Amino acid sequence: MSLNIPGLAGSLISVSEEKADPADIDYVARDERLNPDPSLIPDPADLGPGRVRSEAELKEIAEAAAEELADASTDEILAWAAETFGNRLAVACSMANTVGPEYTARFQPGVDVLFLETGYHFAETLEVRDQLAAKGTVNVIDVRAKETVAQHEANFTGKPYEIDTTACCGARKVAPLNAALDGYEAWVTGMRRSDSVGRADTPVVQWDRSHKMVKVNAFANWTLPEIERWAALNEALINPLHYDGFPSIGCGPCTRRVAPGEDARAGRWAGSGKTECGIHL
Ligand code: SF4
Repeated sequence: MSLNIPGLAGSLISVSEEKADPADIDYVARDERLNPDPSLIPDPADLGPGRVRSEAELKEIAEAAAEELADASTDEILAWAAETFGNRLAVACSMANTVGPEYTARFQPGVDVLFLETGYHFAETLEVRDQLAAKGTVNVIDVRAKETVAQHEANFTGKPYEIDTTACCGARKVAPLNAALDGYEAWVTGMRRSDSVGRADTPVVQWDRSHKMVKVNAFANWTLPEIERWAALNEALINPLHYDGFPSIGCGPCTRRVAPGEDARAGRWAGSGKTECGIHL
């Protein structure tokens, strides 16, 4: 799929080596405000209806669709996903933009949108989440760890993201998402081939071995300028940090601005050798 839309991002993204300043964000206070009873979040009743197909059936569906939809348009991919899975389809969204959820909602109105609320996000990211929820076109669900940030940090002798990013991502992202995805048979991701060298071969549909479900990378062929263009034309939201040098946005302590020519995800865990949080492995 190619939209053949002229690029916009290059001229809009400012360049700086300056890191985000997590000191500006009161993680603990926000976490305790939003997560007063972490054992209930996410409440399974708020998630999808669960799986009715067997693992073998889902694998067969994924493998057939990977072949049949390899050259399909985004409309065709999402229409197939909505028709095949209905409310057993979820969208994962980092709130870097809301194109994925809003595009999917055209085919599956009110679709569940899973946001990994780690407790370490930029205020701008949480604002995008709130604005998307206020639109009422999708069902935004905060997927959270059972431990508050304060409890999580008590398990380390310092800041978890400075000591062991694998353990931190595992507790705040991977484990909560694993639990949440049990409520669905398929999920739509925002993965794009242009994100990084490691994502260059991303298929539009694949069998997700980790979660034993169908993974729909409906935007695999898209570029950042195409995301920006679609958002502008369809009044989807773009995180303001996107235009401040953050083409990929994760947790505040682990995301820095990127330099010209760098991969979009070069600012994630920069200098650590880590390129993925683990949810796509
Ligand atoms: S991205 Fe950083 S702060 Fe967020 S969960 Fe992973 S290690 Fe922790």
